[in-house]
Amino acid sequence: ENTRRIIEKEDRLLSYTTRVPYYPLVVDRAKGSHVWDVEGNEFIDLLASAAVINVGHNHEKVLEAVHEQVDRFIHYTPAYMYHVPHTKLAEKLVEITPGDFEKRVAFALSGSASVDGAIKAARSYTGRNHIVSFYHSYHGTTIGSLSVSGYGSDMRKGMGSLVPDVHFIPFPDSYRGKRTEECLESFRELITMIVPAESIAAVIYEPIQGDAGILIPEQAFYIEVEKICRENGILLIADEVHTGFGRTGAMFASELFHIDPDIIVLGKAIAAGMPLSAIVGRKEIMEAWHTPVHFFNTAGNPVSCAAATASIEVIEEEHLLENAVTVGNYMMERFKDMMTRHECIGDVRGSGLMIGVDIVKNRESKERDVQTTAKICYRCWEKGVILAFFSGCVLRVEPPLTMTMEEAKDALDIVEASITDVEN
Ligand code: PMP
Repeated sequence: ENTRRIIEKEDRLLSYTTRVPYYPLVVDRAKGSHVWDVEGNEFIDLLASAAVINVGHNHEKVLEAVHEQVDRFIHYTPAYMYHVPHTKLAEKLVEITPGDFEKRVAFALSGSASVDGAIKAARSYTGRNHIVSFYHSYHGTTIGSLSVSGYGSDMRKGMGSLVPDVHFIPFPDSYRGKRTEECLESFRELITMIVPAESIAAVIYEPIQGDAGILIPEQAFYIEVEKICRENGILLIADEVHTGFGRTGAMFASELFHIDPDIIVLGKAIAAGMPLSAIVGRKEIMEAWHTPVHFFNTAGNPVSCAAATASIEVIEEEHLLENAVTVGNYMMERFKDMMTRHECIGDVRGSGLMIGVDIVKNRESKERDVQTTAKICYRCWEKGVILAFFSGCVLRVEPPLTMTMEEAKDALDIVEASITDVEN
């Protein structure tokens, strides 16, 4: 049959490292919160292409912008020429990102490459080498972004020397007992014992750690991190590749914690699925480096830029931040209610439509139940819901921000039925 043939062919052709498939789903088309496979089966999408499709699949306004631009011209490198979609998007990004100061934008093609850009800009501006990052963080797979990722030593195996002078400290995890004060103490200790504060260029962080399984620090954590940084001329780099563009119910998660980062890294949902990423930073930082230290020939592609501007307008015009909060709260309540019937749910946490449901063997020990988690996702797929997980045992509930209450209800009915099936 179709699916089997395609998957066999993929297995013969594609490097394993680019793929971690959960179930044999060959996507044929998608619209809004729905996906159809090549067999004609329909799914409700709780994954949104890994938090990329915030405005829903193939939104009419995005399609129009893409078609209109494709008919004009597909690309001309902004290194040598100017084009309107590029300028228009930069203007929009400067306007909507946190921070009431003059900014500059630099585009790239992936979150990873933009993380590299943030590191380069921070080092170049401060004249300092050292970067502080966090355990469990995911920042990407280029050599630079891999070097600041604390996501697992497997990622680093066989890679040889990575970028030097990167240090890791723990990130707060209220569920599994990593306290705020403990993490702050590690930061202070790093500065006292290992790296003088005046050698540290930046702290890079995900405002809410995503791939780590949705870890949401308390405000007190960021108040103190920001204080240490400001007192010592250390830049704050917020990696909002995952949290950006309304995912958490705010346009950017930095707003939830009242932080104006010096550099903000954007990707994933920025262009509704078209390839694009960006860094937006303080003017003086973004002008302290030389040409062409952060340049990519096809970055700032006009079709991607047009899609991005249209997508941001959709978020604004359709009040998707409000919808993310309303539908997100409903979903979190439903999962909390499920906890009364399903022992395997250890914790439910989230902000907006960035929700994690922790699956454990035992609520006391909080031991991760990796097998049950994978089985729940597989059963959901069999029943018509696309659900994935991260951190081994955290169901990743991140649908398009356009999801309606009815769709959310239908999806969660299936998720609960799947949990029941797996338990029995
Ligand atoms: N930063 C964060 C926080 C991410 O979640 C990701 C992707 N999961 C990246 C960076 C890397 O983005 P990309 O895969 O587009 O390189």
